[in-house]
Amino acid sequence: MVNVPMREIVTRFAPSPTGRLHVGHAYAAFFAHDAAQAAGGRFLLRIEDIDASRCRAEYTAGIIEDLAWLGLTWEAPVRRQSEHLADYAAALRRLQEMGVIYPCFCTRKDIAAEIARAGAAPHGPEGALYPGLCRHLSDEERHKRLDSGAPYALRLDVERARRLAPVPLYFEDAGAGTVAAQPELLGDVVLARKDAPTSYHLAVTVDDAIQGVTLVTRGLDLFHATHIQRLLQALLGLPTPRYHHHPLLLDDAGRRFAKRDRAVTLEALRRSGTTPAGVRRLIAAARR
Ligand code: GLU
Repeated sequence: MVNVPMREIVTRFAPSPTGRLHVGHAYAAFFAHDAAQAAGGRFLLRIEDIDASRCRAEYTAGIIEDLAWLGLTWEAPVRRQSEHLADYAAALRRLQEMGVIYPCFCTRKDIAAEIARAGAAPHGPEGALYPGLCRHLSDEERHKRLDSGAPYALRLDVERARRLAPVPLYFEDAGAGTVAAQPELLGDVVLARKDAPTSYHLAVTVDDAIQGVTLVTRGLDLFHATHIQRLLQALLGLPTPRYHHHPLLLDDAGRRFAKRDRAVTLEALRRSGTTPAGVRRLIAAARR
């Protein structure tokens, strides 16, 4: 019998410090942590703090405090995205060199007006797709607008990217099985902006590879993101982790826990005398 080496399980919890963690986050953190522990693997923490307008250092400190209180341990160092902008800029440059990135000067208003005008605009699982206004600008028009100093986003030309990447592309999900990637579901997503070298999709794809993550666990709300991230992995020559998209934890009223619900933050629960074991019981009850 041939011994096939199993890939080591490396998971991560990757919160954004835009508020205090709540019970839904605790569920996601336990999920990633326990998946690694059950397999004798490694659990990492990543702080997704690229959006400087919404992220705050005090929330990062709060995340670390809350996770430690829950009894979780993770490997050092914690990766903070804001400290690795050069990694995302390098990946973006590679994509630019491949010719799959274009500047988009549209405002939200321009996009809404075009969608209204076009009538049957293409829709994806997350709403109307970018209608492609800036995809076909002439080089001259593009340069004129760039030279004018107008703000812009850098979008992925999904169709072009698709032609460059090997097809078909797949990913493995613990719930959904082998999934054929359909990056066109989300359309020409924004990968960076004039003043921000990355957006969520690019940073996550680069980081999961740099951190050696082999099993991405996260909520089902990010299932569609995986289609785009799989395409980015193919373009950038990065390994593809396995995925386990888990259901989101719902409150008694059947709503997702949200950062705006102060009462369910881990900090509030701790102050009112709930123990980490009590948080695990709350999660188990919410999952029934
Ligand atoms: N930072 C993202 C969030 O807080 C999660 C990213 C991911 O797991 O891919 O929703």
